[in-house]
Amino acid sequence: MAKETIGFIGLGIMGTPMSTHLLNAGHNLVVYDVVPEAVGRLVSLGAKPGASAREVAAQVDVVISMVPDSPDVQKVYLADDGVLAGARLGTLLIDMSTISPTTAIAVAEAAKEKGCPMLDAPVSGGDVGAKSATLSIMVGGDQQIFERVVPILKVMGTPVLCGKSGAGQIVKACNQIQVALNFIGMAEALVLGAKAGVDPAIVVKVLSGGYAQSRVMDARGPRIIRGDFEPGFRSRFHYKDLNIIRETARTYQCSLPAAALAHELFSAMQANGWGDLDHSAVIKVIEELSNVEARTAD
Ligand code: NAD
Repeated sequence: MAKETIGFIGLGIMGTPMSTHLLNAGHNLVVYDVVPEAVGRLVSLGAKPGASAREVAAQVDVVISMVPDSPDVQKVYLADDGVLAGARLGTLLIDMSTISPTTAIAVAEAAKEKGCPMLDAPVSGGDVGAKSATLSIMVGGDQQIFERVVPILKVMGTPVLCGKSGAGQIVKACNQIQVALNFIGMAEALVLGAKAGVDPAIVVKVLSGGYAQSRVMDARGPRIIRGDFEPGFRSRFHYKDLNIIRETARTYQCSLPAAALAHELFSAMQANGWGDLDHSAVIKVIEELSNVEARTAD
């Protein structure tokens, strides 16, 4: 059977490598981004450009989106030149952006009314996971639809059905609590060591070999202590996710004191103009509190 033609909307840090994997797996791809250079990169690899989300949707069997935030997803799907204005009956829709569960459910309901089944499928694993096609993919929606798109999702990582519509976004919110607190814990450990005169490289080396070891520290510890905060995952996006977490916690009357602290620290990053640095740069807030920088001499 011929492979599905896929429309991919949102070709940024994540969308570019994810769509490239689909192209390399033999899918015909129609792509769209508001930034023309991003479209040009994929076209040079063999994708076809679309003039709008609507035009992309009209030509494909499956639409995948990977845009920043809830309002962007609403625009991509619900605007006059959006996906739902162009999609044929039965076109499968997969939003892989990290957005509010409430928005994910509302957009999926609008899609269902148009006869297009929709899944929420946010990811974890960062730019590294996107490049190596090892993303953890958290899916919410109908099981039968999930099973139909598993071969496509497997090209980008490992999909897990988490529950009904919105459940993928709920699990992603859980993930973002743990990642934020992991970064904050690592930052405090490095700052205490530095303030007391221990080389941060020693702290990273020793903690990486014991119970404190984490994927976060493996990926970012060595870069933090060199002062390398090139994104990866922009802190303004993690701040967005912490706002989603607070909104979701309010909806379910769930008390999350440490996530509230993380929200305030990530808020301070935005106030300092560090929104486009990697989320590991939360250490800069902790460093300022103690007037020290946890950098290695090497
Ligand atoms: P990015 O800013 O690099 O890319 C987003 C792309 O979407 C940009 O190219 C932008 O031009 C495009 N876009 C925005 N609005 C659009 C619209 N209306 N129509 C078409 N294109 C539009 O962001 P990213 O890092 O790739 O993140 C995308 C999503 O994935 C976010 O929700 C983020 O939270 C999530 N995410 C990112 C990472 C990461 O490590 N970067 C990891 C997991 C999840």
